[in-house]
Amino acid sequence: MGSGAQDGEWPTDCARCFGLCCIALAHQPSAGFPAVKVADTACCHLNDDFRCSIFATLEANGFPVCRAYDCFGAGPVVSARMRAEWGPWTPELVAGAKAHLDGFRELARMRMLIAALRREGSDDAIAVADRLAPIAEAFRRTGRVEVDATTAQFMRWHEPLISAILVPLKQQASNKGGA
Ligand code: SF4
Repeated sequence: MGSGAQDGEWPTDCARCFGLCCIALAHQPSAGFPAVKVADTACCHLNDDFRCSIFATLEANGFPVCRAYDCFGAGPVVSARMRAEWGPWTPELVAGAKAHLDGFRELARMRMLIAALRREGSDDAIAVADRLAPIAEAFRRTGRVEVDATTAQFMRWHEPLISAILVPLKQQASNKGGA
């Protein structure tokens, strides 16, 4: 539930999201999140209208990771699918919607990787990002991250590059207490 990157068709718009990061992600006590939070449970600060009750004072309450987190537009996309599928959601119902929460985690990770690859900017990084972008886009139609065999092989060839980009991101997330 952060400030968010704005990327064309992928706005990080919390107003269009069922607080998916506040439900799907797990946290350990750390400098960025002061309590244990199990994945697929609604944070105790998430209101029934999917807004954070302490958003204005996250840092003062010890939750800076929440503002720093960016789903790179995954939340609104998954929420749109959920909204189309079934009318009124509550945080408790969302917490039980495992397939959607799995989809959110996968899509957010992929979008984060695409953004990091584009930032890295080498020809190889851009080539991998260009391979992944249509897969993320296809999620809108299918609700799944589906990687075909050719792309999987392409990704394996570029595993050293992807690992070099992912390891610092994971380290950063764990330092912040993110999942
Ligand atoms: S403290 Fe607020 S922003 Fe952070 S997980 Fe809980 S409800 Fe979401």
